[in-house]
Amino acid sequence: MYDLIIIGGGPAGLTAGIYSARARLRVILIERFAPGGQVLTTDWVENYPGFPDGISGFELIDRMRKQAEKFGLLIENKEVTGIDIKSSEKVVFSGKEELKTKAIIIATGATPRKIGIPGEEEFTGKGVSYCATCDGPFYRGEEVVVIGGGDTAAEESLFLTRFANRVYLVHRRNELRAIKLLQERLFSDDKIELVLDTIPISIKGKDSVEAVELKNVKTGKTFIKNVKGVFVFIGTKPNTEIFSEKLKLDEQGFIVTNNNMETSVPGVFAAGDVRSKPLRQISTAVGEGAAAAFSAEKYIESLK
Ligand code: NAP
Repeated sequence: MYDLIIIGGGPAGLTAGIYSARARLRVILIERFAPGGQVLTTDWVENYPGFPDGISGFELIDRMRKQAEKFGLLIENKEVTGIDIKSSEKVVFSGKEELKTKAIIIATGATPRKIGIPGEEEFTGKGVSYCATCDGPFYRGEEVVVIGGGDTAAEESLFLTRFANRVYLVHRRNELRAIKLLQERLFSDDKIELVLDTIPISIKGKDSVEAVELKNVKTGKTFIKNVKGVFVFIGTKPNTEIFSEKLKLDEQGFIVTNNNMETSVPGVFAAGDVRSKPLRQISTAVGEGAAAAFSAEKYIESLK
């Protein structure tokens, strides 16, 4: 029986791992892919304290993972398919495998949201992308469309100018949601053209993306942009499908916790982007990972 199972290996999960392994709990972290989460799709992180010149998402995660493993955290690659949290002895399922534990920290993060327009599904991986770091280099010398108006859309548009000749940033309102610093950078970049008050209608092509049909929401006029790539950054949805019947979620499906990262079920904690909260940052995920580990440790103590 484990003391603690951490589900998810992004900044929140790895930080919880560092704290709980260092506190000498019997702990395991389960991650379905490689540790890292969404940070791995971030080219350059410049607002995580301690790195005045910024750091690549990959290197930041690599350092966190090494630090956790240094304290003896066991990281296993497998998919969690369910949990049983009805009694104080909890079970984490991975297919037929059952792992018993006293406490669980859920740090499963969130995944990019889809627009849900014709052509999006069909051309995913053939011109439609949710990761500029992964796919940006394929668009050297091309024109691309970015959908969204938040920090991700702004940052990734700026990143894409390294490769693409022109980036059309398509946003549904006439004002961006992204922070002012990023907006200033967008406005002063002559490779970026803002297409405001506009929504995508469909993505067209034969074997891969050839064009996007757009609609100006003020005039109702539709028009075509001939581009090879469409990058979608319209926010995220929480990875909570397997917890939905078991824990209190908000109306968007994020896990509701108190300030101690306690969910609606004793012994189950949540941290990072999967939590219902206003700010999703690496620094907030890290803080919540530490808080969740601290609360889990107190909970495990209380069982004795
Ligand atoms: P977000 O802040 O939720 O922004 C999503 C954007 O997509 C909004 O501009 C929204 O428009 C638009 N949108 C939503 N649904 C749409 C639809 N169906 N069709 C067209 N447009 C749609 O998401 P995000 O940019 O991914 O950021 C998520 C969180 O991560 C935020 O808290 C953000 O601050 C944080 N983040 C931080 C950094 C950083 O600090 N360096 C970098 C990336 C992300 P409206 O504006 O009209 O709602």
